[in-house]
Amino acid sequence: MEQILISACLLGQPVRYDGMSCPIECTRIDQWQARGLLVPVCPEMAGGLPVPRPPAEITPGGGPGVWAGTARVMTRQADVTQFFIKGAQAALEKAVACGIKTALLKQKSPSCGSCRIYDGSFSGSLVDGMGVTTALLRQNGIMVLGEDQIDQLLFKQI
Ligand code: SF4
Repeated sequence: MEQILISACLLGQPVRYDGMSCPIECTRIDQWQARGLLVPVCPEMAGGLPVPRPPAEITPGGGPGVWAGTARVMTRQADVTQFFIKGAQAALEKAVACGIKTALLKQKSPSCGSCRIYDGSFSGSLVDGMGVTTALLRQNGIMVLGEDQIDQLLFKQI
């Protein structure tokens, strides 16, 4: 069975901006982890950001806009786009090195989001879109699912 790239925070690693995690409770995930089939990555830490760190959101255009040079990743105080680009590149390198074709990443994140992300206004509003890492992985042929789409992954792995 092929390995799966997974957001480290979904495996309970306390790597979120607020020092917390958001673990998935799923027997199959536990079994895959025990068999070494899950490859965790936190793009924001891989990009050089600390824990904790200020929350960040993408300006309109989302992850694809960042790669096109038309969107930026911002905290309330600073432009952190380069950290997110570096982290996405590290995640892609890890996936390629492991021959990974599928990723299960955390929704809403400016790195890992795959369907919905915050709109850049820091008001809690969501828009359709994807994060910087998800955009790069998809551009390189890797299927990215959110944790709320895990049923598709379970079906695929049967
Ligand atoms: Fe989780 Fe991804 Fe955010 Fe890291 S960058 S904390 S893996 S959602």
